[in-house]
Amino acid sequence: MIRLGSARDTRYESLMVENSEIYQSAVEQLERVAKILKLDGGLVESLKHPRKIIQVAVPVKMDDGSTKVFVGYRVQHNFARGPYKGGIRYHPEVSLDDVKALAMLMTWKCAVLNIPFGGAKGGVACPIKEFSEGEKERLTRRFTAMIADDIGPDKDIPAPDMYTDAQTMAWVMDTYSMLKGYMAQAVVTGKPVECGGSPGRTAATGFGVVVCALEAMKHNGMKLTGSTVAVQGFGNVGYHAARIIAGLGAKVVAVSDSKGGIYSADGLDLEAVAKHKEDTGTVQNLRGAKTISNEELLTTRCDVLLPCAMENQITGKNAANIKAAIMSEGANGPTTPDADVILDKKKIFVVPDILANAGGVTVSYYEWVQNQQRESWTEAEIRKKLEERMIGAFNDVLEVSKKHNVNMRSAAYVLAVGRVAAAMKKLGLFP
Ligand code: GLU
Repeated sequence: MIRLGSARDTRYESLMVENSEIYQSAVEQLERVAKILKLDGGLVESLKHPRKIIQVAVPVKMDDGSTKVFVGYRVQHNFARGPYKGGIRYHPEVSLDDVKALAMLMTWKCAVLNIPFGGAKGGVACPIKEFSEGEKERLTRRFTAMIADDIGPDKDIPAPDMYTDAQTMAWVMDTYSMLKGYMAQAVVTGKPVECGGSPGRTAATGFGVVVCALEAMKHNGMKLTGSTVAVQGFGNVGYHAARIIAGLGAKVVAVSDSKGGIYSADGLDLEAVAKHKEDTGTVQNLRGAKTISNEELLTTRCDVLLPCAMENQITGKNAANIKAAIMSEGANGPTTPDADVILDKKKIFVVPDILANAGGVTVSYYEWVQNQQRESWTEAEIRKKLEERMIGAFNDVLEVSKKHNVNMRSAAYVLAVGRVAAAMKKLGLFP
């Protein structure tokens, strides 16, 4: 007999069995923190599972006249603290499990920064790098139409993530608005500034990663000027993080993309790297720089390592070889739990993803507020607010880490899960 509603419900067990590494890490972390916070078992169970999973098969007319079907997801994890919020990614390896984990991370991220949003994530599994602009637009519009009743300015607000950008968000907003019959600017964030986007949103995640790295350096008695930095990933987050930290006086000695990396002991000219990537499709083979692998990038001798590529990069296999003193995580889930144990032993100071890369969703929140209130703020105002909020959150997490004698990742989880649990307790259960 199936015991309905029990934590041992067979349906839940099947959900747990198929879990990917990143989902398992997220659940493990939650369980560990639940013990510190002495949370009720039912509440923890409820936080382990997303509230709603939407899965769609998206047909797209390709340029060659054929029709192809791609599987898309939107996972809504928790909305106790506000509407669901989180990006949409296009990637060949997007899986439901990954999207579930990333939705959960969004809940914690918004809570660490004390932003009144819950957590969600979306994704479509597709070979996006092979798509033309037209194919990408048709995929985006059809996917949006298929999830249109589940998103909305006060319901669930998507934003850019891997291989989606401001243009993608403009298509989402336009499609949603056409279907609903009014211009719903606040349905997405990370839009182009021309149609309701916020200045400073594109660079916000990279900026936040740098603010956290600087706070971590200060806390560890290190100086920024002349320090050396390695950046994994040269997409929106990695590029801006590298550019900003170099502009402040650090020497970026290594960068990489999905194909591999480059190294120069004298520091790289980042504008030349960006141009080279635009021309050739990769940062590799830049004149005057040594070509290295992604593995070599991670283990480069440097003061600060910024992993800004993707999940599961720093693992039990390579963590022992990391030589940086500080890590500030621009990607979501770049470090596995077994790597964390090793980094702790090596006394590497890690600013975790749910704090370090929260600059993006923070400016998303500012964009949403501007849309809802029909206001527009200047880039300088936004940057000041963002910097203050990131420094405030860094110090909140640092305090929790001292109080409970845990590392920054566990402390960020304690803060976030505690805030979400407090909201859930006050809301109670309906009916
Ligand atoms: N995709 C980004 C993230 O993972 C931004 C989410 C948002 O702005 O809603 O944090």
